[in-house]
Amino acid sequence: MRVKLAVQTFSSSVSDALEYCEKYLNIPSFQYAEATATFCKNINNVFDLLNTRNFLGSTQFKKPLYKGSEEFLRNFVQTSISYLSTVTNYEGVNILQTSRKTGFLGLIICLVSVQNLFEDLVKSGTLNFLLTYKLSQDHLEMFFAAVRRRGGFSNNPTAWQFEQAYKRLLIHSEIASSESANCLAQDSTSILNVTSKKVKNPSLDVLYEFEEDFSPDLQEQYIVNHNKILNCVYICDVVEYIAGFVSKKLGQTLNCNECAKSVTTSDSTCKLLNRKNRGGLSKPTKDVVKVCTVAESIIKTETNFSIPKIMLKLISAAMRNLNFRELFLCLSEHCLEQDPLDGHIIQLIRLILKNYFTIRLHHINSTKNQITDRIRQRLTKTIHFRNQ
Ligand SMILES: [Zn+2]
Repeated sequence: MRVKLAVQTFSSSVSDALEYCEKYLNIPSFQYAEATATFCKNINNVFDLLNTRNFLGSTQFKKPLYKGSEEFLRNFVQTSISYLSTVTNYEGVNILQTSRKTGFLGLIICLVSVQNLFEDLVKSGTLNFLLTYKLSQDHLEMFFAAVRRRGGFSNNPTAWQFEQAYKRLLIHSEIASSESANCLAQDSTSILNVTSKKVKNPSLDVLYEFEEDFSPDLQEQYIVNHNKILNCVYICDVVEYIAGFVSKKLGQTLNCNECAKSVTTSDSTCKLLNRKNRGGLSKPTKDVVKVCTVAESIIKTETNFSIPKIMLKLISAAMRNLNFRELFLCLSEHCLEQDPLDGHIIQLIRLILKNYFTIRLHHINSTKNQITDRIRQRLTKTIHFRNQ
């Protein structure tokens, strides 16, 4: 069974769709769909509670279990278990008495275990909260998948084969699951990895690396430049035009559909873009334009482009001048499913900045390298007609 497909089916959106078809559209074939809708909704809530991985979860079921959640957890576990143990199959036999009982029993056992863990760890004060995804066996399954892959997809490796595979995995690579595997990694939990290299989190790196380089004078200059750009229609239009190129490029390369959707829009007020557009240009959203405008102000403030790691410096300076709370609000729901320190919004903003700076740095370098005073240009007549 593909877990990810099951999770998509037993979701509240499927439940809503079923109820919509039954109650509002009155489609005959959806008559009596209510029980199925309830089933989907309940299973969805149980899945959510057993998969919490972010502090900022939107529903109660997606939030971590704090001390204060005791009452909620007890009620939820009780009602869920009584629901799961009363589900019957189409013949009216209790599902727990049939051969298909495994999944239902599994959920009941998980719920009881989570409640007991809560009592032991959170209520006693050992942990401040419990994120249940960390308890899931996804990580173990991915590890097994990686071991199987090493042995030429052998389902039952010998002890010797397992030892070899384990050693190789330990030393050579961080475990990553493949696209077609049963489980997909939902966060970046490190599973089995020994390395002599110091591992750094690249996203945090960027924020800290150039902390000391940003002087108050530069900051003042930046604000002046930023206001200048905002007041100049021409620069605004050009920035938006480049932003359009950036969003087109991101739209084509981003793996995440929701993020890719958030960079382009169907209408734009940019005169330059509308003028040049013959149907093929992408129009950037307001958020992309905002990020690019800040990037342009940073470019205008920076004076020395020949230092090492200039890209990192520019990105970190721009990140510090962006107000993350007002950017990509349409993705705030989407980001609740991700690592709070390295969610898609932050990654997306970094990508936009990187693409924008790449274009601008290329331009700056090419203008700098141009020989402005060509002798042939100046003395063209003299050189051409030298012998006459
Ligand atoms: Zn995304």
